[in-house]
Amino acid sequence: MKTLLLLLLLALPILPATADSCTAADAPGHEPTALPKLPADAAPRHIILMIGDGMGAEHVWAAWMVNRGKLNITQLPVIGFSRTPSASHAITDSAAGATAPACGVKAVNGHIAQDSEGRAAESILLRAQRAGLSTGLIATKDITDATPACFYAHADDRRQKALIAAQLPESGIAFVRGGGSKHFREEQLQEMRRRGMDIELLSDGDMPPAGQRGDVLPKATREALERLSRNPQGFFLMIEGSQIDVAAHRNDLRETVREVLDFDRAVGEVLSWMQQHPDTLLLVTADHQTGGLSILGGSIPEGRVDAHFSTGSHSGVAVPLYAAGAGAARFGGIWDNTELHGLLRKALPMPAAQE
Ligand SMILES: [Zn+2]
Repeated sequence: MKTLLLLLLLALPILPATADSCTAADAPGHEPTALPKLPADAAPRHIILMIGDGMGAEHVWAAWMVNRGKLNITQLPVIGFSRTPSASHAITDSAAGATAPACGVKAVNGHIAQDSEGRAAESILLRAQRAGLSTGLIATKDITDATPACFYAHADDRRQKALIAAQLPESGIAFVRGGGSKHFREEQLQEMRRRGMDIELLSDGDMPPAGQRGDVLPKATREALERLSRNPQGFFLMIEGSQIDVAAHRNDLRETVREVLDFDRAVGEVLSWMQQHPDTLLLVTADHQTGGLSILGGSIPEGRVDAHFSTGSHSGVAVPLYAAGAGAARFGGIWDNTELHGLLRKALPMPAAQE
């Protein structure tokens, strides 16, 4: 009996009991798109902001290992960090975490597009639209969820779904893809289409996880680029990889990697589009880190990562930002998350929207 126990103990891996593994078989990878040659100091006409919800540097590198040492995101030439504390907490939630880059103000956790005093703040998307650019919004969760909501709505509480939903038709956003059809009546959807909004809500609530939803995110990205680029004045598009956060809250390593790879495929769609449209600025960042992920081992040639989550909540580390294309040069450095708003605003092609 004792010998059997000893043999069993020896057979255990050296990794801590809590480490988990993800392999290329669990999370099928892809070839990155060749990085187009882009003038980093030119003025952009199109601005694309991509937010990986909860996507810390560790989540990116975990996916990079599983994809055998290559990703679209990690090719982007300009890098920096974004500090994420909110007005109320050292560790932000997604509402304050999106309000900061969207509106340039620190919000109390849970507040949608409001400053710390509860005053409504205008998002970069609505500002771009007011100046004559076309706008788009893509998410893989409910479109009334905190991150996308901060770009078109204001609310004291992120759970006020009906109040948030009611503000979408007024926004006039040209292209919308996400989940959350249950918050809208059929007449409201028809009214939005009558106003010229190209809106498809592809699920009742959140969409299924990456492993089950096919190429919805890369496809919506392609469609948005095709549709929005019809406006010669330019466009502002926000694309969220919403469920990286969901998977990391669950401490589900395989699903986390699948979500990052799905988001990275959407980045690849943007990069291939940018080959024909070098007057485009791409900024990829996150609102906060989720799960306190750390990488403990693995094999890049085999496409495997061994990693450990240290919390079921968000963590307080600064998150990475990656930029490419026209005007990307100014994003290098360590920023407060509110400062990203000012940088994006300076990049807007319309002088009226920059003020
Ligand atoms: Zn979260």
